[in-house]
Amino acid sequence: MTTTHASRLLAWYDRHRRTLPWRAPAGRRADPYVVWLSEIMLQQTTVATVGGYFRRFLERWPTVGALADAPIDDVLSAWAGLGYYARARNLHACARTVTEAHDGHFPQGEEDLLALPGIGAYTAAAIRAIAFDQPASAVDGNVERVIARLYAIETPLPDAKTEIKTRAARLVPAERAGDYAQAMMDLGATVCTPRSPRCVICPLMAGCKARKLGLAEELPRRAPKREKPTRRGLAFVLSRKDGAILLRKRPAKGLLGGMDEVPSSPWREGKLSPEKAMGDAPVPARWQILDGLVRHTFTHFHLELTVAHAIATTGGLARLAPGTTWCTIDRMTERALPTVMRKVIAHAVKN
Ligand code: SF4
Repeated sequence: MTTTHASRLLAWYDRHRRTLPWRAPAGRRADPYVVWLSEIMLQQTTVATVGGYFRRFLERWPTVGALADAPIDDVLSAWAGLGYYARARNLHACARTVTEAHDGHFPQGEEDLLALPGIGAYTAAAIRAIAFDQPASAVDGNVERVIARLYAIETPLPDAKTEIKTRAARLVPAERAGDYAQAMMDLGATVCTPRSPRCVICPLMAGCKARKLGLAEELPRRAPKREKPTRRGLAFVLSRKDGAILLRKRPAKGLLGGMDEVPSSPWREGKLSPEKAMGDAPVPARWQILDGLVRHTFTHFHLELTVAHAIATTGGLARLAPGTTWCTIDRMTERALPTVMRKVIAHAVKN
């Protein structure tokens, strides 16, 4: 049965494989750097979003050594918009480690890969399978869904993870493990989709338990999610007469680590008191609270920012904190500004 699933899937893959910018042509093995870069970018992001970023990164830094040599700020600003900025920092740290400790070659062993910054079990398995054709089992959300359905696993996630991983690992064929991993990804993305799976064209239809039981759309089950809390803060957009806006750098560690931002009060749960939050303004000025809110959602919380705007006066400028810089609107794209800060600036400009 196991061989049947894998061989059916591979035969389907040979006819229906997706063409993706990071995918090697049929019969060729992919460059580990390319596999790694695409897998890091694809975490929590769609293929459509990643395409342009991937091409730009590869054009600018065609090898892991080139990426390692790049200043971190360049990497962060090229990453801006992809979110989860700790990944960009890890990406750079990983490129440095591969260059310095592994002579510019990605290691092939699981332990060595897991020791690299930002590489977890899924990415290590994807690199081993796709770049080195090792029979490693790469289980992401797509593969979880396919396996949960194939075996009609009704235990809700995350409790079902161990069973899914065990089942998934048993299916990996000894040969063409890289193609198999990519076939699973394609099946999850194009056929065994979260809603309305296309069972009638699925190569695994004959052996799929969820389909037989009429459960396909219901699986995988998930334990109810906890509500995300909402944090609130006051963002300060200070502009000069020439239109430049004051930015500062966030601390290197933590959320949006090392990215640029407009200054703001701490982001806290509960009601925002703009009067109190005004105490966090970067300089004394005639701050005006703008109408409306800027909303953004992070992995663990929603954020609502009220925006205050002021024009900088010469007296105020003397008191600017070290580490702050001015940036004109037309040069904002060169800065490592996270999406939430782009929204804040757009809100201020619009108002
Ligand atoms: Fe998914 Fe349907 Fe294929 Fe089963 S038959 S693996 S539910 S698409």
